[in-house]
Amino acid sequence: METEKQTKINKERIYGVSVVVFLFIVAVLSVCVVFGVITPTALLASLGADRSRCMNVDGCFSFCNVGNGDSTLIYTNNVIGMVDFGVADYSYSLSDKVRELTDDPLDFAVISHPHSDHAGGFEVLAKTVGITRLYMRKYSENELEDYQFYQDILSVAESNGVQVIHPASGTQIRYDTIDLNFYYHNLYTKEENENCLVTMASIGDTRCLLMGDSGHLTEDVLLEQVTDLKADILKIGHHGSKSATSERFLQAIDPDYGVICVGRNSYGHPSPEVTSLLRRYEITFYRTDGYQQIIFMIKDSKISLLTI
Ligand SMILES: [Zn+2]
Repeated sequence: METEKQTKINKERIYGVSVVVFLFIVAVLSVCVVFGVITPTALLASLGADRSRCMNVDGCFSFCNVGNGDSTLIYTNNVIGMVDFGVADYSYSLSDKVRELTDDPLDFAVISHPHSDHAGGFEVLAKTVGITRLYMRKYSENELEDYQFYQDILSVAESNGVQVIHPASGTQIRYDTIDLNFYYHNLYTKEENENCLVTMASIGDTRCLLMGDSGHLTEDVLLEQVTDLKADILKIGHHGSKSATSERFLQAIDPDYGVICVGRNSYGHPSPEVTSLLRRYEITFYRTDGYQQIIFMIKDSKISLLTI
C-alpha cells in the first residue's frame, strides 16, 4: 500500500511531467507557426478552436490603412472579398490582414480603377493570398494615360489564375449573403477618376457604397440612373477631395457613417469642404490614417464598430 507521502510524491511527479509535456507541445507548435509550417488559423482549427472570423456577427466591412489609398475587406463566415488593394508599399501588411481571417484565396475582388493607390497591392495579393475572381471595368487605350498598368493587372491575373470579369453597369452578383451591385457610366471623359467602377456592397440589407475616386460627374449620373442609392456606410469618393461628395449626392445616400481612406498626401485630402459637409449632416466619419482597420460589424441589420 502506498503511504500518504508516496501518493503525494507520485502526484507531484505526474504534475511535473504534464507541465513539461505541455510546454514541449507549445514550443513545437510555436516553432511550426514561426517557420510557416502551419498558419495560426490552421493551428486554431486543429486544436478545435472556433475559426469563426465574424465572431457572432453576420459579416463585416473592414477599411484597411493602406497609406493614401483604398482597400476594403468584405466578409461573412463563408466568403471573403476585397475592393481595391491600396498602394504597393502596404501590400504585405494587407496580405497579413487577410491571412488573419482565412487560409483560403479571396473569393472575389474588385478594382475600382487602375491607379496605383487602388491596384498597387494587387500583384502581391494575387501571389500570396490568391484571388478567385476579379471584377473591373474594361478600358480602351485612349481612356487611360497609363494603359500599360491596366494591361499589367490583366496579365498578373492571367498568370495567377485569377478569372477577370468585366461586368455591365447594373450587374448584381451574390456571394453568400453579400450582394455586389456594380455601376459606371459610358460618358467619354479624360478624367480617369470619373471612370471608376462603383460598388454597392450589401451584407443582408446593410449597404455600403464604395465610390473609388469618383467625383461629381459620376455622382450626377448615379443619381439619374439608379433609383435607390441609399446606403448605411459611404466610402467617401476620392479620399475626401472636394471634387467629390456633392451635397445633393450626400443627401441622396443619407449614410449613418462615412469613411475617408487617406494617408499622408500633398493634395490636401481630405478637403475641409467635405469634412464640414459631413459634420453639418451629422454623419459619423472616420479616417483610415488614424487606425490599422476600421471594422463595421453587421448583426441583424445593426452596425457596431471596432477600430484597431
Ligand atoms: Zn485614389
